[in-house]
Amino acid sequence: MKTVTIIVPFYNEEESVNTFFEHLDKTLNELKEYHFSFICIDDGSTDSTLSTLQQQQNARDMEIVEFSRNFGKESAITAGLDNFSGDVAIIMDSDLQDPPSLIPELLQKLQEGFEVVTATRTDRSQDSFFKRTTAKWFYKAHNSFSDIQIPENVGDFRAMTSQVVQEIRRLRENNRFMKGIFTWVGFKTSTVNYARPEREKGETKWSLSKLWNFAVDGITSFSSLPIKIWTYIGVIIAIISLIYALIIITRTLLFGIDVPGYASILVFILFLGSLQLISIGLIGEYIGRIYMEVKERPIYVVKRIHKKES
Ligand code: UDP
Ligand code: MG
Repeated sequence: MKTVTIIVPFYNEEESVNTFFEHLDKTLNELKEYHFSFICIDDGSTDSTLSTLQQQQNARDMEIVEFSRNFGKESAITAGLDNFSGDVAIIMDSDLQDPPSLIPELLQKLQEGFEVVTATRTDRSQDSFFKRTTAKWFYKAHNSFSDIQIPENVGDFRAMTSQVVQEIRRLRENNRFMKGIFTWVGFKTSTVNYARPEREKGETKWSLSKLWNFAVDGITSFSSLPIKIWTYIGVIIAIISLIYALIIITRTLLFGIDVPGYASILVFILFLGSLQLISIGLIGEYIGRIYMEVKERPIYVVKRIHKKES
């Protein structure tokens, strides 16, 4: 019998924990041909998430990885994958936005020979207009810059074989843009479609600034085009300047000296100045990330692993 390990990050989800397992049990009880185990990560919750999880542990094969503080969802998923030892790993959110009813389909596709099965949100009407549009822009920007193409509207909700997990574990970068990491390792991938439901309980943990950082992380993690492009922009501006200089010289030779425009000079200086600041800023983004990477800090700190007493 194959062991399917479900990896779930929890951050202040006391309201969701019990409903999550209730819904999950309904689906899993139908799937008799697998053994299901859980790796739950308590990502530094400050509410009663941990104790509620411990109560749930009595009823099932489950391990709780308790972090020493909040490290973020990406680190939590990494810890889940690091502790994984089954045949199949399924990653899902704890707020029931990743419907458990999709699990049989995910497993079915793995049976068919796929090594990764993702879930694509076909209907994002539950997300705000702002989140949908910015997400669209992000995918466009990312995929036109990067070496890897991340599929649109695919979240972390996915199933994969233990071989894929092994490979993902080798990527120890601190900037954990999981969508990119998942795609980078490759393997034969299929997807199932679903409409993303609304969050059942609690609130989203994503603020605007977190989303912005996430987007910048995503692009800088898998592309160096944003810093390389300045060479080309510089060359283009140099060519334009040269042509403009030739025009001025010819005009002066033909028509004599003209009083140069104060306004146009100011506009050029400001324009070039801001271009330089943007390019320096972008270099800063990369240097900042290089700095964080060379420190080689661990991706997360585990306070305790709660194994099931048997
Ligand atoms: N999460 C986490 N650490 C964090 C933020 C979120 O482990 O710092 C977990 C959270 O408990 C949930 C999942 O990541 O299981 C998705 O979070 P959320 O629902 O807030 O994100 P959204 O669905 O809005 O993208
Ligand atoms: Mg959610």
